[in-house]
Amino acid sequence: MPSDAGMKPPKRTELSSPEIETDLSRIQSLSREHDEENWEFRSWLKQNAPDDIDGIVQALSQKYFALIDCTQCANCCRSLQAEFKKSELHTIAETLGQSIKEFEKQFMSEGMVNPPCPMLDGKLCSIYDNRPEVCRSFPHLEKPLFTSRLMGVIDNVAICPIVFNAYEELKTKLAWPKGRRDLRH
Ligand code: SF4
Ligand code: SF4
Repeated sequence: MPSDAGMKPPKRTELSSPEIETDLSRIQSLSREHDEENWEFRSWLKQNAPDDIDGIVQALSQKYFALIDCTQCANCCRSLQAEFKKSELHTIAETLGQSIKEFEKQFMSEGMVNPPCPMLDGKLCSIYDNRPEVCRSFPHLEKPLFTSRLMGVIDNVAICPIVFNAYEELKTKLAWPKGRRDLRH
């Protein structure tokens, strides 16, 4: 959220730990607080990202996947609309004992499965081994062309602890002039 012109910008709240933030409500409020900064960083990345940015982000994604337990989170499955392939929808509807029409009526709008995903059982995916492709690659940090997908990345900062922490660390790692987070490794 942009601060009013001429006003002193609010003091930035630092993360509770220098390493990692996993509390979802804190991530949500920090993301709101960092919103303007996140968009500025996006613009900076567009011009200044190093040639090996995809590799750097891939390493950050792997680091935070190892540190964060998705089975204790499931926030993506609870909060995001998902687009599954037709064949995947068929399999899921079949698992629920429904026709595709019944499934669409009950769980979908405009071609997307509404959250929370009907396959979510507590914090676990009930079809984990056969989960759709989009679920396997979420939060998509390991796909090529990171700098062309930054709007989607910023959308996920407030949803996914892996994205939140990776994007924060990237600011420091690339020595972004406005990045102020003190990370210790
Ligand atoms: S299919 Fe499984 S992994 Fe994908 S959104 Fe649903 S619960 Fe989550
Ligand atoms: S929101 Fe991110 S950390 Fe949470 S379950 Fe999904 S991928 Fe894992």
